[in-house]
Amino acid sequence: MTELIDTYGRKHRNLRVSLTDRCSLRCSYCMPNDFAAWIPHDDQLTTEELLTVIEVGVSQGINEVRLTGGEPLLRPDIVEIVGRIASIENAPELTLTTNGLKLAELAQALVKAGLTRINVSLDTLSRERFKKLTFRDRFDDVITGLEAAKSAGLSPLKINSVLMQGVNDDEAPALLQWAIENEYSLRFIEQMPLDAGGIWERATMVSADEIFKALSQNYSLTPVDDRGSSPAEEFYVNGTSHTVGIIGSVTRPFCGACDRLRLTSDGQLRSCLFSNEEVDVRKVLRDESKDLESKKLEIAARFQKTVLSKLPGHGINDPSFIAPARPMSAIGG
Ligand code: SAM
Ligand code: SF4
Repeated sequence: MTELIDTYGRKHRNLRVSLTDRCSLRCSYCMPNDFAAWIPHDDQLTTEELLTVIEVGVSQGINEVRLTGGEPLLRPDIVEIVGRIASIENAPELTLTTNGLKLAELAQALVKAGLTRINVSLDTLSRERFKKLTFRDRFDDVITGLEAAKSAGLSPLKINSVLMQGVNDDEAPALLQWAIENEYSLRFIEQMPLDAGGIWERATMVSADEIFKALSQNYSLTPVDDRGSSPAEEFYVNGTSHTVGIIGSVTRPFCGACDRLRLTSDGQLRSCLFSNEEVDVRKVLRDESKDLESKKLEIAARFQKTVLSKLPGHGINDPSFIAPARPMSAIGG
């Protein structure tokens, strides 16, 4: 069986697929309100092209596909995409990360089409703060979307929260309380230097240690053993089975256990969020001199090339670190 093993022995089974770089929010840690450097429409992979790359990925050992973006639910044919991935031979587990705004409309259809799990991003429980943080007055839509996802049977329902100093860093315990009450599984993600506006600063980012301390003032947290390839350090809350996760991407890198590759919406394979190299599969897909079988063989070779180019770590903490040219919203978070 073919596998995607890098030079450090890491086996890659997880493909993050960005369906679009467009978004309905403007979370300040991700993109500025006046962001305009969008990927041209014609460069974005068609659904047919996406499916070809995913099928090849599965033939190379990918067994989980996470759809992301930008905002993946903005893709007009998202339900069809989910349905078609779920029908691939040896279909991968299919998950999605969303801002939740369109879940009220789409959750039922997505589950019916084959979606098994979702992560929804929410950083504050205050409508006013949400508006300030995202430049859009859509807090209620996220809450309604979460309820729809729950009713549609998407479980466990994970919430992703990014804390920013002076913006929402006082909300860690309240977010956890809310998550426990609603049976959501909460994970805090350290803010990373991947925003289009370049606002990230090491001195002001809220670290995993600070998040742990803030939560520990209200809760007793006991580490969960066996993290596997999960980026989150998980903790049992108050001796119950409820857990909270902290993803210390910057201060506690987990590169040694990384099993992810990424496909951007314009058809570039990446070995890491922070990589400065991309391997072009769009060019192969659009090469009119090749038939489908030869394209698939070449794409399989490019998956291997991507994995073999993977560095041991993301290097954020090295003095020579250079942030990638593209922001998180274009790479796929
Ligand atoms: N739009 C969807 C959403 O917000 O869930 C999917 C794409 S978004 C890029 C995926 C995740 O990345 C979200 O949970 C978001 O909070 C997180 N994210 C975006 N920019 C980030 C940054 N600079 N540092 C850490 N996490 C970030
Ligand atoms: Fe959009 Fe997600 Fe970025 Fe927020 S984090 S601006 S919802 S892509």
